[in-house]
Amino acid sequence: MNDRTNTFDCEQTLANGTYWMPFTANRRVRANPAGRIIASAAGPYYHTQDGHALFDTLSGLWCTPLGHAHPGIVEALKRQAETLDYCTAFQMTNPVTVRLAERIANLAPDGLNHVFFANSGSESVDTALKIALGYHRLRDAGGRFRMIGRERGYHGVGFGGMSVGGIVPNRRMFATAMLNGVDHLRHTHDPAHMAFSKGQPTWGMERAEDLERLVALHDASTIAAVIVEPVQGSTGVLVPPVGYLERLRQICTRHGILLIFDEVITGFGRLGENFAAQRFNVKPDMITFAKAVTNGVVPMGGVIVTDAIYETFMTGPENAIEFAHGYTYSGHPLAAAVGHAVLDAMEQDSLIARVRSLEPVLEDAIHTLDGRPGVADVRNIGLTAAIDLVPAPDAPGARGTALFEQGLKHGLLLRCTGDTVSFGPPFISTPQQLRDMVGTVRQIIDTLA
Ligand code: PMP
Repeated sequence: MNDRTNTFDCEQTLANGTYWMPFTANRRVRANPAGRIIASAAGPYYHTQDGHALFDTLSGLWCTPLGHAHPGIVEALKRQAETLDYCTAFQMTNPVTVRLAERIANLAPDGLNHVFFANSGSESVDTALKIALGYHRLRDAGGRFRMIGRERGYHGVGFGGMSVGGIVPNRRMFATAMLNGVDHLRHTHDPAHMAFSKGQPTWGMERAEDLERLVALHDASTIAAVIVEPVQGSTGVLVPPVGYLERLRQICTRHGILLIFDEVITGFGRLGENFAAQRFNVKPDMITFAKAVTNGVVPMGGVIVTDAIYETFMTGPENAIEFAHGYTYSGHPLAAAVGHAVLDAMEQDSLIARVRSLEPVLEDAIHTLDGRPGVADVRNIGLTAAIDLVPAPDAPGARGTALFEQGLKHGLLLRCTGDTVSFGPPFISTPQQLRDMVGTVRQIIDTLA
């Protein structure tokens, strides 16, 4: 810890409320900040200021699959900072960023060959929505302005991503400021048909027909794009039913609607393939990514688009501003250098193959909770899983909060939203670490129940 952090009382300052924490019940933390301050991290563990190790059960916020303090990343960051720490993003660029675009395009499904960089998942989503609008307009179909998202979808917190998102509490406060013309498909989760499912549920593909209903309602000529997370992550790992994404693809193609996969969580290996598009063998028109591309070390996001979309923006009058969009930090060289180090490590250590080998370990471990008292549902795919607790009567979310707090006491940093706990452990986890993680959660749930 450096001097600056030593000279002040972090817990006291947190209690004062000077630092307003994102997506956090601030009053609860301020009342009891003990244990909430992380001083350092290495591998799959955080170390709190008060001396506890916490296993990182969600890889940060799904963003640190290689674990913390990865030597290759640290070295790449340092080297890049000494060589080119920033590069004007408009009109100019640099080899590190250009080469990263090429490497990412090579990982994407065939035909998605062009990468536009942003700095977060939210920015990536808003970029993709704007690309969709621009694409239709350039093709004289500017009447296509509607966006279709999905209930329980999370697409970040920009006005675009919030509008297409479907998590009710994230929308409620800002309901007056939603984008015009957004509609939502139902989500596909129905425990009555798919409780305790392993991998893709077999029930639910017919929910894709919601899209046909919205097309009939609004007319295809008004619809620009459909955006879905292939696996709904933030809302608790909702896995697409067999055939569902295929059906969305068919309907979009039939009606000239662009299909966007928001792969901010699923991109870069989480499902045992580079992208979920490959795991489910469904090719979208755009893929948004962020998080794991830089192992969370430096913010980066982006959108990968098809040749057809890219070429649409490349036609038209010379010197026209084809796409008036971009960020000061688009393709930041430090992020790009880290991106290379991440991809190098993934290749050298065969980490995506490792995810495939860990998937059954996590699956077997997590489903030992099936049917236990207090457990309403358990599901998994790739190196991710979720457990729904039975909510306490009259106190929804209270059991999730209790689980989170007990987790801290038992060496786990858990991600609990409402009464759901989601897991997305680092790819570098050992099978035993996964079993221990689930075993500890099982013990806590048994005591809560
Ligand atoms: N899309 C998805 C699918 C996400 O999971 C997230 C973040 N959890 C976002 C977008 C937003 O990303 P960010 O927080 O980097 O803006």
